[in-house]
Amino acid sequence: MDDTADIDIEILKECTLCPRVCRVDRTRYIGMCTAGRLPKLSNIVLHKGEEPPLSKGMGASAVFFSGCQMKCIYCQNMGFSQRGVGFEITVEELACAFLKAQRGSASTLDLVSPTPYLPWIIKALDMSRKCGFNLPVVYNTSSYERVDTLRKIEGYMDIYLADIRYTDNQMGMKYSKVPDYWDIAQKAVHEMYRQVGPFDEERMKGLIVRILVLPNNVSGHEKALEFVANLDKDIPISLMSQYIPHFGAKEDEMINRKITKDEYESALDKLIALDLDGWMQLDEKEKITTFGVDWRCSESDIQKLVTEEIEERERSFNG
Ligand code: SF4
Repeated sequence: MDDTADIDIEILKECTLCPRVCRVDRTRYIGMCTAGRLPKLSNIVLHKGEEPPLSKGMGASAVFFSGCQMKCIYCQNMGFSQRGVGFEITVEELACAFLKAQRGSASTLDLVSPTPYLPWIIKALDMSRKCGFNLPVVYNTSSYERVDTLRKIEGYMDIYLADIRYTDNQMGMKYSKVPDYWDIAQKAVHEMYRQVGPFDEERMKGLIVRILVLPNNVSGHEKALEFVANLDKDIPISLMSQYIPHFGAKEDEMINRKITKDEYESALDKLIALDLDGWMQLDEKEKITTFGVDWRCSESDIQKLVTEEIEERERSFNG
């Protein structure tokens, strides 16, 4: 692992972490993503509904960060992704939560929409690894990411779980309020692939592409599948059918309904015709897939982490 990621808390004074590049001083204000000066979480849960290799056993330890660079009108996590719901924690608490996930037998650490908080996440990973943390780390992303930022964290993420939401910039603008989704996402997926290659379950490393099929082909899923096939047919696809028209989507005539069986099967046929493979993610609403866990750490747990960090610094200072 590269433990010298070139990503510093200083970046928050003029934040350029995501393609919004809003340059806000997050030590004083919040950015367009609603992120401010400290890591903010909605929750950490054990999640059995991620792709099967990521949520074996007790499940993935999913860390739901508050805030997001996308503004999807149908987002099922609207409260914390766009409305700022959540609570701030310190980097030590975050590191401790990662360790607790491992002690609780999670199969992976699943960082959901982590981009606005990367400087702290990298620091927390460094701290927790000094105390024995070794779960595969999943970067769970909309793919609306800057290549520059992804390069800065190279070596830290084992698995990129990358959505392709749209293959048309206009759709990205209409439904997620970003002007250049497809231009940005193609470059980001290429970069993630360059770093880790296609997902390989034995190594627990690599890129998985997720496609949520939207009604009336708003997602442009055929083009998305062709894009992946051209990149590498060994990249597994997670083809998701569970779209539900939440919030603003209820008012939009193109996406105000669930997808039909025919729409999903046609996407599946395309996947098979392109000789791609992966997982079908069918409607999960009847199943309980997430379980609350007590991830908070005691003062003594945190103190142990801090002591380890200080000793490490002293060791490197003394040569
Ligand atoms: S991460 Fe947030 S604050 Fe930073 S550039 Fe993106 S939207 Fe702006």
